[in-house]
Amino acid sequence: MMSKLLVIAEGRDGALRNVSFEAIAAAKKIKSDAEIVGVVLGKDDLEDKANELIYHGADRVVTIAHEKLQNYTSEGYGQAVLAIVNDESPDGIVMGHTSIGKDLTPKLAAKLDTGLVSDVVDIEVNGDRVEYTRPIYSGKAFEKKIITDGLTFVTIRPNNIPILDRDESRSGDITTKEVDVADIRTIVKDVVRKASKGVDLSEARVVVAGGRGVKSADGFKPLYELAEVLGGAVGASRGACDAEYCDYSLQIGQTGKVVTPDLYIAVGISGAIQHLAGMSNSKVIVAINKDPEANIFNIADYGIIGDLFEVIPLLIEEIKAVTV
Ligand code: FAD
Repeated sequence: MMSKLLVIAEGRDGALRNVSFEAIAAAKKIKSDAEIVGVVLGKDDLEDKANELIYHGADRVVTIAHEKLQNYTSEGYGQAVLAIVNDESPDGIVMGHTSIGKDLTPKLAAKLDTGLVSDVVDIEVNGDRVEYTRPIYSGKAFEKKIITDGLTFVTIRPNNIPILDRDESRSGDITTKEVDVADIRTIVKDVVRKASKGVDLSEARVVVAGGRGVKSADGFKPLYELAEVLGGAVGASRGACDAEYCDYSLQIGQTGKVVTPDLYIAVGISGAIQHLAGMSNSKVIVAINKDPEANIFNIADYGIIGDLFEVIPLLIEEIKAVTV
């Protein structure tokens, strides 16, 4: 019998987050011949999002439109996903290892008395054996998990599994499911985004992160300029956040966001273990620091020893020169 995997999509600012497409690619890796069923939840206007999932590899999509699903709540989304799981009886459920994924999947896995492999960065398949790779000890080691039986939830870390090519010629059924979402005790009155507009930090391909060495909120301006020329996002160490140079929503590390961009530029950051926990799996790390003994140089692929206020303008100038 053909197996079936559900992919729970996530939206932000009216569009689907990239990790939704990465989750489809992950599902295809888990079982290349499985039927991939996308799930889109929200208040209304879900058809475009459903189509996007199909263009990115989903075979069909189930949507639930309900005013109580306008904003994420564990109770609302939990009830909706549970209703779809009961209908579809999937063999696995994949979604992003995002704030929502981290909240929703353990609760549902516990409710359904089943397993969860979280924060997956790679999937390898050998015959029927699927190996999930996930970082442990704050990214200092990796473990491989093998699930032999039963429905399993899988959350994937953004930016690790390449999405499939978008193909607008693909088509698939979009079914709208009616669900009577019961009373939700959490009432979301408003969603206020603290992070700056533009590229989402946790999904950015390039991150320019500033530390206490940036010295002031104004000192972050060249970092924003560098991030802009590179099409990236700005992040920060806790040192910079504690010093009120920037908002805590930018914090990367053990108690902040975990990022895995293609390029991470650490500017005026010493490289404390708690910071490394949030960025050490970045593909290429560049460190700019005036202290040649700074710990960040131990994990950097490229190091620039110098004053950031001299180095960053030069970098911006050079990058502009080669990209114009
Ligand atoms: P510093 O350690 O002060 O380093 C500043 C660096 O800037 C120095 O290396 C200096 O040489 C360099 N510098 C100064 N001026 C210049 C210049 N002009 N040009 C170039 N370089 C310059 N930290 C996090 O980042 N994320 C976390 O999630 C996190 N969680 C934590 C959780 C716990 C429980 C604890 C105890 C700590 C946590 N920390 C976290 C804090 C962490 O231990 C460090 O204190 C913090 O990362 C230091 O930030 P920093 O590197 O910006 O500052």
